[in-house]
Amino acid sequence: MALKLFNTLSRSIQEFAPLASPNVGMYCCGPTVYDFAHIGNWRTFVFGDLVRRTLELKGYAVTHVMNITDVEDKIIKRVRENKTSLREFTGKYEAAFLEDLKTLNCLLPHHTPHATEHIADIISLIEKLIARGIAYKAADGSVYFSIEKYRGCGCTYGQLLKLNFDEMKAGERVKSDEYAKESVADFALWKARVPEDGDVFWPSPWGEGRPGWHIECSAMSTKILGPSFDLHLGGEDLIFPHHEDEIAQSEGATGKPFVKYWLHGAHLLVEGKKMSKSLGNFFTLRDLLAKGFTGREIRYSLLTAHYRETFNFTLDGLHGARTALARIDECLGKLRDIAGRAALPRVQADQQVGPTGLVQNFSAALDDDLNISAAWGTVFEWVRETNHRLAENSLSAAEATAALTAWNKIDSVLGVGATIGFEIPAEMNLLLEARQAARKAKDFKRADAIRDELKAKGWAIEDTAKGQRLKRI
Ligand code: AMP
Ligand code: ZN
Repeated sequence: MALKLFNTLSRSIQEFAPLASPNVGMYCCGPTVYDFAHIGNWRTFVFGDLVRRTLELKGYAVTHVMNITDVEDKIIKRVRENKTSLREFTGKYEAAFLEDLKTLNCLLPHHTPHATEHIADIISLIEKLIARGIAYKAADGSVYFSIEKYRGCGCTYGQLLKLNFDEMKAGERVKSDEYAKESVADFALWKARVPEDGDVFWPSPWGEGRPGWHIECSAMSTKILGPSFDLHLGGEDLIFPHHEDEIAQSEGATGKPFVKYWLHGAHLLVEGKKMSKSLGNFFTLRDLLAKGFTGREIRYSLLTAHYRETFNFTLDGLHGARTALARIDECLGKLRDIAGRAALPRVQADQQVGPTGLVQNFSAALDDDLNISAAWGTVFEWVRETNHRLAENSLSAAEATAALTAWNKIDSVLGVGATIGFEIPAEMNLLLEARQAARKAKDFKRADAIRDELKAKGWAIEDTAKGQRLKRI
């Protein structure tokens, strides 16, 4: 069976056939670094990671690009409010983003281009659009994309969604980066410097200013992946105007089809509601770590729903993730004991390993537009069968080794099989150290109190040959 994906461009599920197989160019719209990324953002980034890992499981050589939006309207506003410099402000949130990416065990993209480091590419793309008569400089010194001229060349504006042009007046302009589909209008490619921009400006053939958000992604994606590439991903809110504008700018400049497959992830709700600070249901990844959850548990939870379904994220769901992972860990732990500590053999992508068809069934589930529920179904069915064999004491060391090899293959996609101890939050390790110190000082009351505190946070203390360590309850 071949991999099939829902392409927003065709509004249908299509067989995935890259432009130059086995190479795949994949661009994911990255974070706007003006705050810590929230759990909704992480749903989309973990979805991108799932796509990349699935393609790699299937033997594709993926070039994964994720931009860092380090100049746009919201960032400039925050820089002004915080009386800081652009670089200092965005640097802090970019570092946090990269740290969070690791916490969630997302593979680092091969390229993470910054808009501010591609100003020359952005300018040259705008110059091309002006030369082709599709962009123009307005009286305010800004450069706009002309929807009328673009459509006049036989190009389609509105490839990802249907747009109504009846109300649209030629030359009507929108300068802000975000606008609704009802206000479709000529959008800004280059924004002339205004006093509110402070120090954030660059010289250009049209005067000092800064790029619009949409042109940043067109310039960086085509610079790294070429004028036409395979996959472009983002959350569903980016379909309009961001992705529609990316198509218009890129195809307007190159005359070539921009992206073959557009994939969009549905949004995440928290406890059934849109996340908002005023409702108290707004969580950054860091908020959840502070509650004692691990990146692994959060990743698991985000990977339970199909990417095109709205996902209702709940704290109960995170507790469920903890239980499910404990089941997997227990089974893997027993398999490791039987298999011994011998290194696992390397296997080819298409090689049949482990219990009959486990990897193949898992992979086939993902072929069906990344049917993650069916994929987890194969995993838990296997855990159930393995537990049965373990209870019977009927597994040989060779079978246990084969099972672990198969699991490693599966976990190259799921990315939740971190070895125990890998993701213990720093706070818990500090508590364990404090307890050890209390025991050494014979303060057993304090030692017991710390043990109870750890227990309340979901951690038990286990004695091992190498000393004490923490284990999930
Ligand atoms: P931003 O940093 O705001 O540019 O957003 C980064 C990514 O997160 C984009 O792909 C958005 O579509 C996505 N995103 C924003 N809010 C949500 C949400 N509630 N659920 C899922 N994805 C989201
Ligand atoms: Zn983008």
